[in-house]
Amino acid sequence: MSDYTQRKAELLNYTKQSYEEALFAGTSGNLSTYDHNDGVMLITPSSVAYATMTIDDIMALRLDGTILEGPHRPSSEWRMHAEIYKSMPEIGSIVHTHSPYATSFAVSNETIPVILIEMIPFLKGDIQVAKFAMPGTAEVGIEAIKILKDRNSCLLANHGTVAVGANLSQAHIRAVYVEDAAKIYSLAKGNGNVVVIPDEYVQIMLERYKK
Ligand code: 13P
Ligand code: ZN
Repeated sequence: MSDYTQRKAELLNYTKQSYEEALFAGTSGNLSTYDHNDGVMLITPSSVAYATMTIDDIMALRLDGTILEGPHRPSSEWRMHAEIYKSMPEIGSIVHTHSPYATSFAVSNETIPVILIEMIPFLKGDIQVAKFAMPGTAEVGIEAIKILKDRNSCLLANHGTVAVGANLSQAHIRAVYVEDAAKIYSLAKGNGNVVVIPDEYVQIMLERYKK
């Protein structure tokens, strides 16, 4: 049994749950969790089907890419995950999705404004678009961090979404709310009229949730 069995099991559970919730299609998307004390990142493997993925498929890596455990290539976005962990000590888990409504705004390079109260406690405000970077490079993470330093999520231009948290439970629910906000924003736009929450209320609620 690996030293990381329990953490791998938790990562696998959130991965399968995210797949069942249609946060990604095919083998797109990836999840990771990182222990800042032992310097080990657990991450989903690259291009392995989610339905049949098992605990033994989960990869254990150092942030420099050294593989410690696992039979596959790690997610092709491991550098983005590593970049975020290196510069954000408060972040312990990352969920990267291609969830369709949110990704449609990533394709339009359009910020999703604060239209729902849940966006304030869960996402810390609007959902902005990080500049396009070549998939698989550290630049994807570097561009995302510019937004994530003040938010819990962002869109990746013409690519997908990123949600971060102290743990997998936080990062996962934030990824769910990114898609939910994008879906509702899309429906409201279709209805023809969108009213955002006035910024003065957003600021008051942000202060309240900080406490
Ligand atoms: P992986 O299967 O390599 O994790 O790639 C999926 C993805 O979302 C690439 O951005
Ligand atoms: Zn992706």
